[in-house]
Amino acid sequence: MPIYPLPNQEHERLEKLRSYHVLDSLPEESYDRVVRLAGNLFDVPFASVALVEGDRLWFKSHIGFPDSEMNREFAFCNHTICGEEVFVIEDASRDPDFCNNPYVAGAPHLRFYAGAPLRTAEGLNLGTLAVIDTRPRTVTDAEKKLLEDLASMVMDALDMRLLIERADAAESRFADAIESLPNGFALYDKQDRLVHCNERYRQVYSHSARFIVPGATFEEILRYAVSKGQFPEAAGKEEAWIAKRLEQHRNPGEPIEQRLPGDQWLRVQERRTSEGGIVGFRFDITKLKHQERELARLAWTDSLTGALNRHRFLELAEKEIDRTARHHKPASLLVLDADHFKQINDRDGHAAGDEVLKGIVERFKRTLRSHDIIGRIGGEEFGILLPEIGADDAVKVAAKLCNAISELPFAFEGQLLRATISIGVATHTPGDHLHEVMRRADMALYEAKAAGRNCLVLKAA
Ligand code: GH3
Ligand code: MG
Ligand code: MG
Repeated sequence: MPIYPLPNQEHERLEKLRSYHVLDSLPEESYDRVVRLAGNLFDVPFASVALVEGDRLWFKSHIGFPDSEMNREFAFCNHTICGEEVFVIEDASRDPDFCNNPYVAGAPHLRFYAGAPLRTAEGLNLGTLAVIDTRPRTVTDAEKKLLEDLASMVMDALDMRLLIERADAAESRFADAIESLPNGFALYDKQDRLVHCNERYRQVYSHSARFIVPGATFEEILRYAVSKGQFPEAAGKEEAWIAKRLEQHRNPGEPIEQRLPGDQWLRVQERRTSEGGIVGFRFDITKLKHQERELARLAWTDSLTGALNRHRFLELAEKEIDRTARHHKPASLLVLDADHFKQINDRDGHAAGDEVLKGIVERFKRTLRSHDIIGRIGGEEFGILLPEIGADDAVKVAAKLCNAISELPFAFEGQLLRATISIGVATHTPGDHLHEVMRRADMALYEAKAAGRNCLVLKAA
């Protein structure tokens, strides 16, 4: 059993004291300041903020004591933490309870002690704020009040420390959660400055990662990223692209899709926070995008030749005719049909016929521009739309295509298969609908067949 008095609820008191995580911490100015103030106001050689733990007194701050802690056994503070008010010993040498205390009977021959408990809101006394002297003295009520106020300041500092610690813990828990997200995350404040982002966000924008630092504005980061080629779609129209992206960012709504180098794709989802900032997520949708594209390709192309199927060809040809008409540009349509194709099938087999059809489309592609539109509109019949090409040029292109097919045979399983095509050429005239152009091209094709095949006929409007 200890020979010093123990406060009620000693167990709870110790638990509470340890929860402050202040024991054995480094010196801090806010506590030193209070201790200096107490020492000066009371004009004493000893002053301390002491926390009473187990069998020791640990000084968060002190003046006059040789060590940062002392044995609890002979500490006057034991009496202070048992009460609620300032505890005073005016002259220990005359007090029967303390005259035999080794610090009274021996060096440093203490006489006077006044201590205010460091009291929590629950009424647990963690320690004391004390002033001590080697001369006896008295304490006025005003001085007691002063000591209590200083003790309250120490408690405020301790509570503040706990709040900061909790805030830090909450923040690091938040950061930890954000970091473990599989998606990019970024938070911008009201001034559009980056507050926080996870590592994934930096990885996603790898070209501009160096610039993605807290404090940088969204616009600064965006401009840097554009200058580093982070967004292929911005190339050549940087300012317009940046303006549009800033507009989307500042008025977030539906998610947007963003292309990154290497055909990587992101879905960008942004929202305003209640503070007026912007929170943004980045989802990697590369796989989805590629699958989507592959599905569209399958739905739109003819599996044998890789040309567009009839439906898609007509759809795109119509769009293209509308577009060129809007820009007062010409457009031409070719309808091409393999000559005597039935004979190839009959003589060399269906597989040989298939190979020739594939070869025909390959030669078309090699001869045409990348934006010309090629479709397989029937068994051995094709359509080609030539945007911004008038009648004269269309005839030249058609002649090239005839040649491209007829000049060399197609190789298939050791055989050489000769093929020719006939072409009907028609040009678009203002007000024409696609099917009218198509009808003229069909008539022209009919005439080309009648004229002996392996040739072209132009049907002017
Ligand atoms: P024309 O010069 O008058 O066009 O003669 P043609 O024999 O090409 O015309 P016709 O319309 O009589 O026959 C077309 C042939 O094309 C019949 C059909 O079997 C063949 N054909 C259509 N689609 C395919 C295909 O996908 N593969 C193969 N191998 N043959 C096909
Ligand atoms: Mg034919
Ligand atoms: Mg035919």
